[in-house]
Amino acid sequence: MPTQKTLRRLAREHGTPLVVIDHEVLRRNYATFKKYLPRVQAYYAVKANPDPAIVRTLFDVGASFDVASMPEFMIVYDLIKDMPAKQRQDWIWDKIIYAHPIKADATLRELDQYKALVTYDNSEEIRKIRKHAPHSGLALRLKVPNTGAMVELSSKFGAAPGEAVDLILEADRAGLVVEGLSFHVGSQTTNFENYVQAINLAASIYKEAQDRGYTRMNLLDIGGGFPAPYDDTVRPFRDLARRINAEIDRLFPKNIEILAEPGRFLVATAATAVASIIGKAVRDGKLCYYLDDGVYHTYSGILFDHCHYHVEAMRKGPREICTVFGPTCDALDTISMAEELPSTLKRGDLVFSRNIGAYSVASSTSFNGFPPATVVHINQ
Ligand SMILES: *Cc1c(COP(=O)(O)O)cnc(C)c1O
Repeated sequence: MPTQKTLRRLAREHGTPLVVIDHEVLRRNYATFKKYLPRVQAYYAVKANPDPAIVRTLFDVGASFDVASMPEFMIVYDLIKDMPAKQRQDWIWDKIIYAHPIKADATLRELDQYKALVTYDNSEEIRKIRKHAPHSGLALRLKVPNTGAMVELSSKFGAAPGEAVDLILEADRAGLVVEGLSFHVGSQTTNFENYVQAINLAASIYKEAQDRGYTRMNLLDIGGGFPAPYDDTVRPFRDLARRINAEIDRLFPKNIEILAEPGRFLVATAATAVASIIGKAVRDGKLCYYLDDGVYHTYSGILFDHCHYHVEAMRKGPREICTVFGPTCDALDTISMAEELPSTLKRGDLVFSRNIGAYSVASSTSFNGFPPATVVHINQ
């Protein structure tokens, strides 16, 4: 993370609200992922933070990409558009997965020209893909337990285990090729058992498909969910990786390709938000600070991502429990009702929040006329 001195200098230069992305941290996170999961190709989930500079840095270190809309696809495509056609085609096939199980007809029509790998989880989607994107490769998204994940996904997506092989055979009969299986254990999964259960479930479906005559699967996509170290209750990535490696080696053949779609793990720790105090009041006896960034902006993860961010001061003073509000007229725009901060902070003082790179800027709005924070990149 950049030093407070650097944050102050950048805030002086660019103003606030500001988000500082440290590309050295991005590269380090990617290296950590590869170090502990050497068999796994990492497809960065662009939705966690679609900043093109982040996508570029991860591209440069060899990442693949998980996209879930055509605009996300085009952010990645932009990096390879000057490659010779054949090479570009191979790159897309090898390095992009369109990992949204439900795609509009128009999206499929657009996607078909690029021949990408796409996920599906139901019969209707097979009919849509057959009609509008027959050149795609398929991965069946399985419904797996999301127990204890910070963000639950299994209620919205995933084929039930009992119908999985039927859906594979149905796609096969429709003339499509199912390349493998995918799942998502839920975002910020600190319950490592979720991965163990999901890999075991995928292995049993893989085997059942083979027993029923379908032998063309050659990949397993273990999805996202890898937890960012927001606090010291999150056990080390190394421990999770050890369990995942053990299960994959035990249950799957050596030649099967293993993919993952880390979003949060790669970007969360790479960004720091810097805001200014724009107002100060005492309400019902409690000190309230008003910032120029909030829940409709960089702190959107409080609402959409169920993520709690600490606000830290850059100067010392007697501390008390304060409320921290964002800049808009809406009371929902509350960053924290219980943040311990110096009571002596003044209007114009800077505060900051660490580890705010995932699902933050990504879902920032311009509500109430307040534009999203300025983003600056360091160590690019
Ligand atoms: C959001 C999402 C991801 C990224 O999840 P993280 O928890 O940020 O790692 C990966 N795959 C799919 C299909 C997703 O929807």
